Amino acid sequence: MSETLPGKGAPWADTRARMLEMAAGDVKWRDGKAAVYVFNAGEDVEQVQKEAYAMFASENGLGPAAFPSLARMEREVVANGLALLHGPEGAAGAMTSGGTDSILMAVKAARDFARKVRGVQGPLNLVLPRSAHPAFDKACLVMEIEVRRTPLKEFLADPQAMEAAVDDATIMIVGSAPCFPFGLIDPIAALGDLAERRDLWLHVDACVGGYIAPFVRMNGGDVPPFDFEVPGVRSMSADLHKYGYCAKGASTVFFRSEDLKKHMIFEVGDWPAGRMTTPTLAGTRPGGAIAAAWAIMNTLGVNGYREKHGQVTAAREIIEAGVKARGFTVIGSPQLGILAFTRDDVDCMAILGKLYERGWVTSATSQPRGLHLMLSPVHLSVAQQYLDDLDWATQAARGQTGAAANVGYAR
Ligand SMILES: *Cc1c(COP(=O)(O)O)cnc(C)c1O
Repeated sequence: MSETLPGKGAPWADTRARMLEMAAGDVKWRDGKAAVYVFNAGEDVEQVQKEAYAMFASENGLGPAAFPSLARMEREVVANGLALLHGPEGAAGAMTSGGTDSILMAVKAARDFARKVRGVQGPLNLVLPRSAHPAFDKACLVMEIEVRRTPLKEFLADPQAMEAAVDDATIMIVGSAPCFPFGLIDPIAALGDLAERRDLWLHVDACVGGYIAPFVRMNGGDVPPFDFEVPGVRSMSADLHKYGYCAKGASTVFFRSEDLKKHMIFEVGDWPAGRMTTPTLAGTRPGGAIAAAWAIMNTLGVNGYREKHGQVTAAREIIEAGVKARGFTVIGSPQLGILAFTRDDVDCMAILGKLYERGWVTSATSQPRGLHLMLSPVHLSVAQQYLDDLDWATQAARGQTGAAANVGYAR
C-alpha cells in the first residue's frame, strides 16, 4: 500500500490487522504444509518462544555487565550444547544469530589461527565436500579464501578426495552432520583421522543436526560419531533455531578449547568511545533470541526433546516407507530429520510444482533431481496427507518438466 513512511501513524489494532492480512497468503506452516524454512514443534513451543522473546526483546546481549541475566542464559545455553555434543573439559562457545553467522565465525577463527599460530602467509584455502552448505562460500568470499569443493562418494564426503585437495595453505576441512541436500552424516571419524594425521582444523557443520542427533541416539537411533567425541574435531556449528526449536536468530558455535575460540573474538582499541570487544560478528545482540533459546531448553528438557524428535523420526519413517512403496529411491540412509528421494520416470521438479498447487512448500535436490523434506514434529500428523497428495502430484506431473527449484531468493 504505502511505499513511504506514513505521515501519521495508525493505531496498533489497525496495523496488526494489516499484518494478519498480509500473512494470509503465506504457506500454512501451522498446518504442517512447510517442510523447509520453518520448524514446527507445536503450539506449546511457539508460545514459550514468543513470551520469552518478548520479555527480553529490548535487552542487549552486547552488555553482559548491564544484563547479567542474558550473560547467564547464554553461558547456560552454550554449556547445554557442549554437553550434548561431547565437548571436552575446557571447550568453549558462543551464541550467534544463525548458522551462517556461526560458520563465518568458525572460518574466521581458523583463518586467524592459521596466520598467527601456524604462520601461514599468502593465499589461503578451505576444503569441503560438494554437499557442504553455501555459508562456507559466503565466509570465504568475505575473507578472500579459496573454496575447494571435492566430489562426493555415495552422496557423502570422500576423505580421500579431500586429502588430495589439501595443502599447507588449507585453513579448514569440513564435514556435515548432516548435509542439507540429502540429510546424510558425513564420515566424521574418517575426517577426524585425516585432520589429526595432517594437523588440519576440522569443522563439523551440525547446523541442522546438532540439536537432533544426540536425542535420536538416546532414542535408540543409529547415529555414528559426529561431534567432539571425534578427537580431530576442532569446531562445530549447531543451530538452535532449527532442531533446537528455538526462536529464529539463534545458533551456537563451539570450539574444542578456549585457546582456539580466542581467535574468533574481535577487539578494537583505537576508537574515541574506548575499547570495543565483541565475541562474534554482531555488535548489538538480540536479548530476545538468547532468552527464547534458554526458555525452550529449560521447558523442553531432555525428555521434551526426545519426545519431539521421536515424532520427527516416526514421520520420517512413514514417509520413507511411503515414497519407496510409490517407486521413489531414497538417497542414502537418512538418520535424522531430512530426507531426499528421487525417481527417473517422472520429473521431480514437476512433482514439486504440483505439490505447491496443493499448498505444500517443500524443497528439492538438483543433483540428482529429487524431492527434499526437512521434517518437524507436526509432520507426523500430516504424513499420510502428504503421501496422498504425492500420489496425485506424481500422476499429474507425468510427461511434464518442472523448473529447477531454488532455496532462498530468486525463485
Ligand atoms: C541451515 C544450515 C546452515 C545455515 O544456517 P542459517 O541459520 O540458515 O544461516 C548451514 N549448514 C547447514 C547444514 C544448514 O542446514
